[in-house]
Amino acid sequence: MTSDLISDLAQLRFDNRFVEALPADPDDSNSRRQVYGACYSRVKPTPVKAPQLVAYAREVAELLDLAPEACETDTFTQVFTGNRLLPGMDPHANCYGGHQFGHWAGQLGDGRAINLGQVLNRRGEHWTLQLKGAGPTPYSRSADGLAVLRSSVREFLCSEAMHHLGVPTTRALSLTLTGEQVVRDMFYDGNPQPEPGAVVCRVAQSFTRFGSFEIYAARGEHELLKRFTDYTLRADFPHLGEPGKAAYLAMFEDVCRSTAQMIAHWMRVGFVHGVMNTDNLSILGQTIDYGPYGWLEDFDPNWTPNTTDAQGRRYRYGNQPQIALWNLAQLGNALYPLIDEVEPLQAALDSYREEYQTCRQRDTAAKLGLTQLQNDDLWVEELHKVLQLTETDMTIFYRLLADFDPRLDTDTDERSDAELIEPLQPAYYQPLKPDQQKRTAQWLRDYRERLQRDRILHGTDDSTRRARMNATNPKYVLRNYLAQQAIDRAEQGDFTEIHNLLELLRHPYDEQPGKEDYFAKRPEWARHKAGCSMLSCSS
Ligand code: AMP
Ligand code: MG
Repeated sequence: MTSDLISDLAQLRFDNRFVEALPADPDDSNSRRQVYGACYSRVKPTPVKAPQLVAYAREVAELLDLAPEACETDTFTQVFTGNRLLPGMDPHANCYGGHQFGHWAGQLGDGRAINLGQVLNRRGEHWTLQLKGAGPTPYSRSADGLAVLRSSVREFLCSEAMHHLGVPTTRALSLTLTGEQVVRDMFYDGNPQPEPGAVVCRVAQSFTRFGSFEIYAARGEHELLKRFTDYTLRADFPHLGEPGKAAYLAMFEDVCRSTAQMIAHWMRVGFVHGVMNTDNLSILGQTIDYGPYGWLEDFDPNWTPNTTDAQGRRYRYGNQPQIALWNLAQLGNALYPLIDEVEPLQAALDSYREEYQTCRQRDTAAKLGLTQLQNDDLWVEELHKVLQLTETDMTIFYRLLADFDPRLDTDTDERSDAELIEPLQPAYYQPLKPDQQKRTAQWLRDYRERLQRDRILHGTDDSTRRARMNATNPKYVLRNYLAQQAIDRAEQGDFTEIHNLLELLRHPYDEQPGKEDYFAKRPEWARHKAGCSMLSCSS
């Protein structure tokens, strides 16, 4: 099977079309600066003392045609911590800007990401290899260009978990330790501590962000904006035809739709990105830049994992669909100089709403095991209220709802409220009060009726319903405290929990006998523990 895969890294083929097609910053020093008239700056990763491989993702290696043996060599560890370059690599950091928390922030850029090059695999796909945490670049501003183990474990595991959940995302090839210490003030309380330094090699077909377009528009560099957009069209949207106004608009609509699909997936699985700035949104509609993200445990639309966002809660779970639209409007503004007409841009933005609605309706139906929603808005709204009556674990609730016995063959259901709710008990953080129990049971009675209607209209039997639900409601997600436990052990030099989670999350929809401990509510000790509930941007 693996014999035709590459086992010698030197055989990886690079086709660095990004750097070849686009203008480079003529300054090749590594001083922090504003970079004008260029899309990237050439920069070398900073060598590190004692690189050590923590984990790699074999599926990502396979995208690059790499055999597992290639990932277990010293060369692999050296290359993916930035100590050595392979023939054909052309390392560089990209220039981009962005709106942060609703405000234009000017030039940001790859401050701690270095693109090594673009692998051309045997299927003809280009995959960019990008080290995160391999040292400063011209875009590092006041920071060090480094990353610590805890945030790198979180990025590595979550990228892969999201992929296996069916959520579009950048990928992660490897997680390595640098053997060096990095100082971070994790709580921003004037108490900086040394932490182990780490590097993740991220992999994507493109790392272009909304902010990549915004920077040229904001600076009035319209020629460069056009050149960059033309490159993006040809490289990342080849199906949209030759550059021109129609193709620019088609590209924008494509981004609107793929972003809508991504957000619907986030809402389906309970993912909260935490920092949806325009520099953190990919034009491919992929989840990118895993920072202070989190997973909803208790179903609370107002929850945000990001301590920096605790006041305004701009990036809270329930606000993500709105924010994506706001970000798309900024991208539309950036593309305006190429299009020079408002209406078609507005129409493309409308396609975001339409696509989001379609995806959300389809997912909501599937989450409940229904063929489709039909005048169910109020009833679905009531479910969302029921989920907020008391702290209710979203993942466990939906997964257990599949086990609810609707007794489709009986006309009258004599079960008491308590009996109806019994199978859902493990989803509740506190016992239900009588009025909460009553309202939940009423919703379940309505659910039973709704399922009977689905059987009459569409012939849905109960095993079909359950299969549908279990294919869309994951059993295992990267709960915040699970990631933290893996981090705590990794900081002691024990990587087994990282490997356990990587394996578990390869099959998030499957029943995995013996793994039930991972299908459990957040324990009480994790409620306020750093890393388990709220996270700072310090990483
Ligand atoms: P983020 O909020 O993580 O997306 O980062 C915003 C900007 O800050 C991007 O330009 C990052 O590359 C940059 N940045 C974040 N952390 C660091 C760091 N440790 N060193 C240098 N630049 C950083
Ligand atoms: Mg970012």
